[in-house]
Amino acid sequence: MTAELNSKPGVDNITPIRPLAAQKELRCRSCKASISRIKRGPFVKTFLFWLPIKRYVCYRCNRKSYRFDKTGK
Ligand SMILES: [Zn+2]
Repeated sequence: MTAELNSKPGVDNITPIRPLAAQKELRCRSCKASISRIKRGPFVKTFLFWLPIKRYVCYRCNRKSYRFDKTGK
């Protein structure tokens, strides 16, 4: 008869640590600086208002770009 005592204190309770990546930072395509959201232009507001796009500007290289907003839903 063998009595195996497997009483290990502190069982490996592996809890996956998720990095807080809730706020994903958008970066400029050319200079990789973080870009900020600005208001959409009148053309987009009038004709493409139904599109989930947002306008961003990079203050480093002064580039403006539209990005699809996939955060909804
Ligand atoms: Zn840039």
